Amino acid sequence: MGEEETEVERHKTLSDYQKNGPKVRVGADIDAWCTKCRMVLSHTIMVMDAGEPLKVQCNTCGSQHKYRQAPTSYSRKRSVDKKSSGTWAPTPPPKASKAWYEATSGKDLSNPIAYHPKTTYEVGQVIMHGKFGTGVVMGEKEGGKIIVVFEDGTRVLVHARA
Ligand SMILES: [Zn+2]
Repeated sequence: MGEEETEVERHKTLSDYQKNGPKVRVGADIDAWCTKCRMVLSHTIMVMDAGEPLKVQCNTCGSQHKYRQAPTSYSRKRSVDKKSSGTWAPTPPPKASKAWYEATSGKDLSNPIAYHPKTTYEVGQVIMHGKFGTGVVMGEKEGGKIIVVFEDGTRVLVHARA
């Protein structure tokens, strides 16, 4: 009496159970998209169809609905956002000097004159330098030079080199 049962049980280990049946079966837990919670949550499989979960019950809110995996973009996008927000530094404030603010106050910077060493500039003109960007001519220097305030500092440029 009961000899067979004992024999069978003795040979069954936990790994045997895991090998035997698929993890996906009625009553098993599975991560699924809950249509109510709008999250990927643990669900209990209620109905199976052709080896795939058909109906699941959300372990969190208890609602039963069709099995649905999370939209792939959802989980991936979130994890990427989370990761990048941790390392992503906010845009540093422009290192604009005080001179730059003073030089540009009240000036129309939308239409600067292209800088060229041969062109002659006048104090107060807004220029566009190929490397340094927008600048304001603040003064003239001997030897055909102009003092230009750029956003990141003041530079002396040549001009009127005809
Ligand atoms: Zn739910």
